[in-house]
Amino acid sequence: MNKKTLKDIQIKGKSVLVRCDFNVPLDDKGNITDDRRIQGALETIQYLKDQGGKVLLISHLGRPKGKFDSKLSLEPVAKRLEKLLSTKIIFFSDEEIISDKTKEKVSEMNEGDIGLLENIRFRKEETDNDEAFAKELASMGDVYVNDAFGTSHRAHASNFGLAKNLPSAVGFLVEKELEFFTKTLENPKRPFVAIIGGAKVSDKIGVINNLLAKVDQLIIGGGMAYTFLRAKGFAVGKSLLEEDKIILAKELIQKAKSQGVDLILPIDTVVAKTFDNKAENWTVSVNSIPDDAMGLDIGELSIELFNEVIQKANTIIWNGPMGVFEMTSFEKGTKTMAQSLAKSKGITIIGGGDSAAAVEKFGLADEMSHISTGGGASLELLEGKILPGIDSIEDR
Ligand code: AMP
Repeated sequence: MNKKTLKDIQIKGKSVLVRCDFNVPLDDKGNITDDRRIQGALETIQYLKDQGGKVLLISHLGRPKGKFDSKLSLEPVAKRLEKLLSTKIIFFSDEEIISDKTKEKVSEMNEGDIGLLENIRFRKEETDNDEAFAKELASMGDVYVNDAFGTSHRAHASNFGLAKNLPSAVGFLVEKELEFFTKTLENPKRPFVAIIGGAKVSDKIGVINNLLAKVDQLIIGGGMAYTFLRAKGFAVGKSLLEEDKIILAKELIQKAKSQGVDLILPIDTVVAKTFDNKAENWTVSVNSIPDDAMGLDIGELSIELFNEVIQKANTIIWNGPMGVFEMTSFEKGTKTMAQSLAKSKGITIIGGGDSAAAVEKFGLADEMSHISTGGGASLELLEGKILPGIDSIEDR
């Protein structure tokens, strides 16, 4: 990675603006129900404090659409940070985020102090990537650190805009994400297997296209597998099918062949007549899916086949569930994939979003080499795209 990291910048006595991803889930009463995103930022914050920085944290929470919304205040995050770091957090409860009063208080911060601004998306200028707003934010700091991987695929004032106005570096969390995604993609230990699932082919075209040039095997499961099965001539009944992507699926199958990549599809599937956890379900071969039934999970033989490939791999990337894992009747394919990755001796990388949620749900998070903190951002990296929030950081 050629971007500056925390170790490349002088911190002592400097005001450090840190973009974090504190976009945590809240319950009806405003309690944080999962603080992993906050935990993920602690290493960077503690380091900056220990180095004698004046640390000013910036984040968004939810989608307030440019207006103050007390339900989306970052105050609960400030309290949780205080607990986790056992230190005082100065919370700037400013509906305008950076009024003159806040700027004055920020300028009074001492070395080792940690402050948190109010939800940056209370200002419309944030998502508009407004230049004047970015300059105003930048006027409060000497250095900018991006540690919010989950928003790095967006060009907003508090990431892209700040990097344009201040000396910059990535934080430890972003550094770790990039190490796994770029190192793996550029120089994988082979065999290199990608497992792609989820609902739609259309969401994953870019990922499949990009990965076909890199992997040895590509396993496709989940709802999108039925469009590929249809492209191979199988009838798929009432399963998820994107008619307008059948030709594309055929092309991808052809591309895999010409590049020497094994494109592996399910060979059997768990079907039901309705999209319902309580519906009667049974397993059929993919060449005998009934007209009036839909495939909602991969079957036992597919599980066995996929597992065999995974156990032989030295690098594995997984993005997207194998079936409707939210329903217990159709979770087995996804659960056993997670177990299979947990058992693997290779490097295992889990893209954010649903696959990360599945790995957490089945209690296997600690068994993986890396679980990405950004669903959209990791998907864009897998597509081979450049992330503006990271591209804008200074090179070493
Ligand atoms: P995505 O957001 O594209 O990763 O898709 C995730 C969603 O795909 C999850 O909500 C799954 O329930 C859904 N999904 C996976 N397999 C199937 C399937 N066979 N039929 C319908 N939905 C599915």
